[in-house]
Amino acid sequence: MSKSEHHDGDEYDEAFTPLNLLLSEAGEQFEQGVKSRYERQVDDVVDLTNDDEGDEFDPDHGTVLETITAALAQPAETGFTVLFQPTLKGEVAAYNIAGHADFVIVWPTESGAGVRVIDAKSTAEQKSYQQIQAAIYTRLIEQAVETSANIDSQAVTYSAGVVTRETEWESEFDISNHPSFDYRSRIADVTRMLQADGEIASTSEHDLSDAPHAITDKCSQCPYTESCTTEAFEQSHVRLLGLSESEQKVLVENGITTIDELADLCTAPNDDEWDPTTQKRAGFVSKDSLYYDLKADTTIGDSLPNLVYQAEAIRRQLSDPDDYQNGLWIPGTGKFQLPEDDPFDPTEVEFAPNSMIRVYLNVQHDHLRDRLVQLSARVSVSDPDIDSIRISKQRRTTSRVMSRSGLTQRLPITASSRCLRDSCPI
Ligand code: SF4
Repeated sequence: MSKSEHHDGDEYDEAFTPLNLLLSEAGEQFEQGVKSRYERQVDDVVDLTNDDEGDEFDPDHGTVLETITAALAQPAETGFTVLFQPTLKGEVAAYNIAGHADFVIVWPTESGAGVRVIDAKSTAEQKSYQQIQAAIYTRLIEQAVETSANIDSQAVTYSAGVVTRETEWESEFDISNHPSFDYRSRIADVTRMLQADGEIASTSEHDLSDAPHAITDKCSQCPYTESCTTEAFEQSHVRLLGLSESEQKVLVENGITTIDELADLCTAPNDDEWDPTTQKRAGFVSKDSLYYDLKADTTIGDSLPNLVYQAEAIRRQLSDPDDYQNGLWIPGTGKFQLPEDDPFDPTEVEFAPNSMIRVYLNVQHDHLRDRLVQLSARVSVSDPDIDSIRISKQRRTTSRVMSRSGLTQRLPITASSRCLRDSCPI
């Protein structure tokens, strides 16, 4: 196993900063595009960009409240005003919050005035953190209205939405078809997390090196994914198995933090002496083993057999990354729909063991531009004497890439670029 070694997050700066620059530029362009849309479709767009002095947030609550007051004085459906980048300040639970909302739409309604906070993101789908951002700004406007002596807060209705690249725009602006989501449930979540003794406070008490965290699907959207994944590999930590924080806690409380310690709960059976598709799980574990205590645990018990075998697979892979052949079975899981390539009993199949041809397809999608950028495949067989074949369509194009110096350069992209994902066989 590799030696545990801690690296700070900023050591991975080079790995993800260039991409962030590209995304940041694309995000700003998209935001300006949305602003242009509003300028064409609504009565008034008020640009409040960069009116802060120095590093201090200088809230635009006065402008926001004046706009709402004006809408309250007008007949319903008489027009929309959009505030671009208003600065908002306030409190949510135990924390002071300040920032710039992307857009705030204000309009007169039958019962008073409507306010919708819009977050604009150059993505195909809206993400949770975008909704949280829009919901928080909505709450800050609510607070400003509630503390205003001149506005009847009951007459103002609030909503929040996220405009993405997939948002469909009508030829005429229609607030009823404009993006919105249930912002109150987001505020309830955020308020719970931001309590004085909430999750944010308890997490911030930890050092970065020992803060509890889980490597899950959410990490694919996070700029720190390289840092967290590398650290987990360096520590050979059980979180490599995608365990939740509570599952990790059960293991740690029982003295298990590494892949080795988890894999050691069971002895790997000898592939030559058993039929893994029918072998009972952990039938070869001694009765006084910690395995049975953990198996009885309600948090991790059900998944323990598979976790132990996954840990064994990772242990073998890490100890011999070049020649590792994935021949491990998960006992008692039965047969797969495909025939076994090298069955325990060769008479069960009509072909020679190890002769099955496997084809791994690799499809890479550019989410920013919504198009395929790479198609490739690897064809292989289990026989170690036969080399795998890579298939890739050489389709050469260029892409404009911003370097850290701010200059742009055209770089070639080939369809045969190697996929860097750890799990990808290409
Ligand atoms: S979301 Fe995942 S990658 Fe990002 S900091 Fe948390 S654990 Fe790390």
